[in-house]
Amino acid sequence: MVRLTKNISLRGYNSFGIDATADLMVEWSDAAALRTFLAAEGAPLIAQGARWNILGEGCNTLFTADYHGTLFHSTASRLEVVEENDREVVIRVESGLLWDTVVAWSCERGLWGAENLSAIPSSVGATAVQNIGAYGTEAKDLIQRVEYIELPSLEERTIEGSDCKFGYRESIFKRELAGRAIITAVHYRLWKLPCPKLDYGTLRPEVERIGEVTPSAIRRAVESIRSSKLPDPKVTGNAGSFFVNPILPRHQVEGLKERYPSMPIYEVAGDPERLKIATGWMIDTLGWKGKTLGRAGVHTHQALVLINTGGATGEEVVALAERICREVEEHFGVRISPEVNIL
Ligand SMILES: Cc1cc2nc3c(=O)[nH]c(=O)nc-3n(C[C@H](O)[C@H](O)[C@H](O)COP(=O)(O)OP(=O)(O)OC[C@H]3O[C@@H](n4cnc5c(N)ncnc54)[C@H](O)[C@@H]3O)c2cc1C
Repeated sequence: MVRLTKNISLRGYNSFGIDATADLMVEWSDAAALRTFLAAEGAPLIAQGARWNILGEGCNTLFTADYHGTLFHSTASRLEVVEENDREVVIRVESGLLWDTVVAWSCERGLWGAENLSAIPSSVGATAVQNIGAYGTEAKDLIQRVEYIELPSLEERTIEGSDCKFGYRESIFKRELAGRAIITAVHYRLWKLPCPKLDYGTLRPEVERIGEVTPSAIRRAVESIRSSKLPDPKVTGNAGSFFVNPILPRHQVEGLKERYPSMPIYEVAGDPERLKIATGWMIDTLGWKGKTLGRAGVHTHQALVLINTGGATGEEVVALAERICREVEEHFGVRISPEVNIL
């Protein structure tokens, strides 16, 4: 089914809680119906020159104004097991299901792999776009393949996870396939044999406090840590980390480390020439934690998270982000960029 809504309020469709509207929202509950629609009356909506975008849960999207165009939104939410052997289970999940429902499903069955990614607000489709990550796990570790409708041909395509060019919050869907792929389903591989990953942040002590090492226990530990650090978008509008952590040449990071010995730095898997630095640490060092500019602010517990303190416009959030970027560059000589998709 395809449902069209004109002049729709986006308030419930973005985690910043920005009060904007879209000229048109096209919601689809199955890929075949979407293709039929796009081949017929929907064709002008994606024709060259038309403004359109895909919106999942809007948890990584900031609207700076009313959206004068079409937003496509998946409500397709089937989850099915497509392969199973004595070591693993592969599930196919349609793009509109909430990612955390997938994690809960997996943990309830004692399957391994998804538990560290508990409580990340995301649609299934966006897990592949963003390559979501937390506590040493990334979506790429699970994604076996992705199904999408290719535009403008409307062909149904499948791309293997190994061809998705996944990187830190990066994928082919943000690069070569940007504007050319509507993701309809993602296949995730989950493991039957234990493979806990506990060596990240305070996860191990939290799991030890719970007293058992199972997917469900790790899920509970992750939920508990996250809720103590991150603001709940239902209460305080935000999009998680607003900026990405820059990955810089090793020599530049070593220079920074000499000047700022307490600056946290991280190895980048498979790339010994580059290191990742913590944007949150730089913003915190500049004294921004807990501060506001207009109705936008920096979260008191996590400087990487920008918040809507109440009634902020997208422009106010952008003004704060730009001010922070400027100060970070002036002080540390490092250019930071947003993780959030600004529309
Ligand atoms: C409180 C909070 C905590 C967070 N913590 C984390 C975290 O720990 N780790 C992390 O990685 N992220 C985190 N995030 C960011 C966010 O959860 C992820 O970026 C998530 O993937 C966004 O999903 P979404 O469905 O809301 O995407 P949206 O914001 O709706 O869209 C994101 C991008 O994906 C594209 N897209 C969405 N659906 C499709 C589709 N079907 N086909 C093609 N393109 C599509 C959109 O066009 C857009 O470019 C957090 C956010 C919040 C609010």
